[in-house]
Amino acid sequence: MSNAAELPPAPTVRAELIARLASGGRYDLAVIGGGATGLGVALDAANRGLSVVLVESHDFAKGSSSRATKLVHGGVRYLAQGNISLVREALHERSTLLANAPHLAQPLPFVMPSYKFWEAPFYGVGLKMYDALAGKAGLGPTEFLNAGETRALLPTVRSQGLRGGVKYWDGQFDDARLALALARTAAQKGALLVNYCAVTGLLHDCGKLVGLRVQDRETGRHMEIRTGCVVNAAGVWVDQLRFQDGEGAGHHASPMVAPSQGVHIVVDRDFLPTDHAMLIPRTGDGRVLFAVPWLGKTILGTTDTPRSDLAREPLPFREEVDFILNESALYLSRQPRANDVRSIWVGLRPLVKPPDEAVESTQSLSREHTVLVSKSGLVTVTGGKWTTYRAMAEDVMDRCFSAGLLPAQRGGSTAKLRLVGACPSHHKISDPPGLHLYGSESSLVQSLAGSARHLGGGLTEAMVRFAARYEYARTVEDVLARRSRLLFLNASLAQSLAKEVDAILRAENGTPENTADFVALCTQYHTLPG
Ligand SMILES: Cc1cc2nc3c(=O)[nH]c(=O)nc-3n(C[C@H](O)[C@H](O)[C@H](O)COP(=O)(O)OP(=O)(O)OC[C@H]3O[C@@H](n4cnc5c(N)ncnc54)[C@H](O)[C@@H]3O)c2cc1C
Repeated sequence: MSNAAELPPAPTVRAELIARLASGGRYDLAVIGGGATGLGVALDAANRGLSVVLVESHDFAKGSSSRATKLVHGGVRYLAQGNISLVREALHERSTLLANAPHLAQPLPFVMPSYKFWEAPFYGVGLKMYDALAGKAGLGPTEFLNAGETRALLPTVRSQGLRGGVKYWDGQFDDARLALALARTAAQKGALLVNYCAVTGLLHDCGKLVGLRVQDRETGRHMEIRTGCVVNAAGVWVDQLRFQDGEGAGHHASPMVAPSQGVHIVVDRDFLPTDHAMLIPRTGDGRVLFAVPWLGKTILGTTDTPRSDLAREPLPFREEVDFILNESALYLSRQPRANDVRSIWVGLRPLVKPPDEAVESTQSLSREHTVLVSKSGLVTVTGGKWTTYRAMAEDVMDRCFSAGLLPAQRGGSTAKLRLVGACPSHHKISDPPGLHLYGSESSLVQSLAGSARHLGGGLTEAMVRFAARYEYARTVEDVLARRSRLLFLNASLAQSLAKEVDAILRAENGTPENTADFVALCTQYHTLPG
């Protein structure tokens, strides 16, 4: 079988993608949504030799899939909830992901500092169980540390009262770039993927779902897609599509998703100058707090706040920001303050809701995914987490086959499928961004015009050209938020590069000048709520 990591990259010329979409024909499978879930399904199906189309209303990973804590993890805290099967599956998927995209996903050591006599033995025993569950998929043994060893790994951890700590292993990744790698690998396998193309209606015939009405958001053009099977992978937005579906249509259908908002704050690395992450398993009010080294900065977070509106760019609440800054200050020798914040971003977790129950706390809701098949044949999948996207895709495909929505069952596992760009890396994901994130495609990026022209934040003119030619980038935001991650790392630096990036994109794509929306977004990302 051909390995996507070794094939030449497929150009992503928009006119050609739209022409293919408009040309009619019937697909085996159509996927709604280009986040981790939808892209995973598209790749799995294309890898089995099915004809696949995926449409994304905005950019790939514009939803929750670019706003994760960036951990490839089994979920230590689900272990505390006794959810062994969920943890075991996630640990298995963790090692699969690290093997298939080593340029984008790598092991990361964590340290839990302890200030109370019982903490290290209590958490240490749980983490030894975590190791045991991982078995051969383990990344390294859990170790007990004394205070000096803890300080050596977390140089700026609060020393006063420090008794020691526990070190354990999980993984970390670049979520948006992984989403692009999935999209591009699926395209290598023959799938058609189109961003900025929204599903505006479901097409039924005699009560059965037979296709989708879609709209190219750049031109306003409407098109129809014919298919035998539709997978609704629209994240927190799945219910909007379910409510348009045959028998589920109308306001009587109950929602599947209870969104939960998570805020992250990014500060400079000197607040925690280490390539180890810090985990505080129980803050003053019983929450979890992470400080994660990522792409040269430190991410602090996160929160878990129920939210019923489904804004594309949700705003943080003041209490969430205060919680993160105040709690971090308790564990770091230098307190991060409002003017240290380089970026602040908010994501919505698509948590699966028990039917017809009011949701007061989302911390107790299921992190597992759910697949539902409606009478008309709409297959909806939501929940889960980034780490388990591949296993979720396999479950979805099994349901599609067993519901008779696809041609006869076909094999083709993605467990050993290396993604576009995959090659061993000497760099860590916690290192500042650069060419290494392109893996085996680095030399191709370097061959494009402007490879020596550094724009800032690890971005070169050649990388912008590469984003336009091979990575589906259409807007300044696509480049500065998801091909490069500068909006998430340093929003004011991203803002200062907007015009230069726009000029390069215009030369590549012929798109009209447009930086105003992105500049407004940058302001949002570096403004704390009042
Ligand atoms: C704060 C936070 C932290 C997290 N941390 C982690 C972590 O560290 N590790 C981990 O494993 N997981 C983590 N997760 C979970 C993980 O990010 C999500 O489970 C995953 O990204 C969900 O992907 P998705 O594809 O289902 O949803 P999304 O990424 O939201 O994708 C759905 C897509 O559907 C599109 N769409 C919606 N309507 C339409 C339409 N009508 N037509 C076409 N497209 C449409 C949207 O634009 C969107 O891009 C975290 C999540 C959050 C929010």
